[in-house]
Amino acid sequence: MTDALHIAGIAVSPDHYIDRRRVPSPTGFDLFSPIDRSTLGRVAEGTPEHVNAAIAAAQAAFPAWAALPAEARRDHLHRFAEEIGARADAFCLVESTDAGVLLSRMRHGVVPRAMQNLTFFADHALSLQDRVIETAQATHRVRHDPAGVAAIITPWNAPLMLTTWKLGPALAAGNTVVVKPPEWAPLTCSLLADAAHAAGLPAGVFNIVQGTGANTGAALVSDPRLARISFTGSVPTAKWIAQAAGANLVPCSFELGGKSPFIVLEDADLDGAAATGALMYRNATQVCLAGTRFLVHEAIADAFVERMRGYVENLRVGDPREETTEVGPIIHPRQLERVKGFVERAVAGGAEVLWGGETHPAGGLYYRPTMLTNVRQDSEIVQNEVFGPVLTLQTFASDDEAVALSNDVDYGLGGVCYGATERAAAVADRVRTGFIWVNSFGIRDLAAPFGGCKRSGIGREGGDWSFEFFCDVKDVVLPKKPFRASFSQR
Ligand code: NAD
Repeated sequence: MTDALHIAGIAVSPDHYIDRRRVPSPTGFDLFSPIDRSTLGRVAEGTPEHVNAAIAAAQAAFPAWAALPAEARRDHLHRFAEEIGARADAFCLVESTDAGVLLSRMRHGVVPRAMQNLTFFADHALSLQDRVIETAQATHRVRHDPAGVAAIITPWNAPLMLTTWKLGPALAAGNTVVVKPPEWAPLTCSLLADAAHAAGLPAGVFNIVQGTGANTGAALVSDPRLARISFTGSVPTAKWIAQAAGANLVPCSFELGGKSPFIVLEDADLDGAAATGALMYRNATQVCLAGTRFLVHEAIADAFVERMRGYVENLRVGDPREETTEVGPIIHPRQLERVKGFVERAVAGGAEVLWGGETHPAGGLYYRPTMLTNVRQDSEIVQNEVFGPVLTLQTFASDDEAVALSNDVDYGLGGVCYGATERAAAVADRVRTGFIWVNSFGIRDLAAPFGGCKRSGIGREGGDWSFEFFCDVKDVVLPKKPFRASFSQR
């Protein structure tokens, strides 16, 4: 066992967690805080041997875990959630430090949601037990059998939320799991192992192999023993994983990037829309579902810009551990360079900066909330995901044009539409995305489907959809009349 890292006085293991044991690694990678680029320590880098050991442990644990009654798995997952709750402060401080997520958001949003991700799916699994379809001929008992060993790979912008969002249904369904956390923010996944351990999860049911995507991640997704790969991250990585998984025909679920429209019709509540618009900068817009392309009716565009400017000017950018901070840092110098590059190229191509467009006086990895206008629909800044606090604003003259502009990108994750309710809902119906909020933003329910169209993903998560992915759905057919084989039968 390697010495723990100490984050704000909290001990966090940098090791893997395999078969209920902490496993050190001969190699590792350095971890920095985006808050001030201070060194947090060295984290284990998983070798192919670690990946092999984790998958072997998960395989060995699978038959007994799968054979448990769903009620027993539910009880395990409720205990797991309680152990997360008991460590709430640690989860908040650690993810705020390694991922730069707002501490207030961790406390009030992410940690309660992480607990709910486990308890909701644990409870929901019980309702899948006895689904029956009755026909004149037969009773169809629809079973949801666990698939086997599931690999879970998550990105740095919301590691605790996204890992538990997948863990909940995977474990509740009876699968065993190997998690590969994001290398820029791996520590709350390590704390999850502590919580699982304290909750008494059996050996091998939940394993973590830390490491980079190129080494550890690639070794994991190439393994033919996997039954499922659940991935949230970028499009290029998903393409790579799809090829590796395709070689073994392992089913994948992909939750990918977005370039979601934020539509403001001319009959919208401008102030409400502007206040919600400013919210898009939370987490420095390192949020897959943020509306990043503002499409505003030309008749109200100037008024909307001035309202939104008022809200944006008041945003407090800075240390995410301060309770009053509203916009935190960008995760990594590489990501900051990427954001700067997008803005420089857009401006060189004729874009006008409405606000921001430069690093924040706080220095480090802080960038000013930015809005660019005068952008062409086919330009890089409109078509590609920045994953930083840079939004674009275009105008339109009709609802048809708003829909056309919304749909003219390769992404199709989410969207926002402000306007008179019926009309906004009609526009929302025509936008090609996996979800869209009318006169609101961010309302979620764990039973509702979540996912993207086009290049934003494959599959849906949430409620039944998560179980459709993590289970082998089987129809057990029981005929109602005695059955006698016949070649003329249809
Ligand atoms: P990324 O694709 O670079 O990395 C995601 C994860 O994949 C990391 O854990 C990484 O280590 C791993 N990985 C990288 N290469 C791999 C490989 N060859 N094999 C296996 N694993 C590999 O993405 P990121 O930069 O960490 O995250 C940002 C992206 O995630 C954005 O595009 C964002 O929109 C997306 N995202 C989507 C959602 C959603 O629900 N749709 C949610 C959050 C983030």
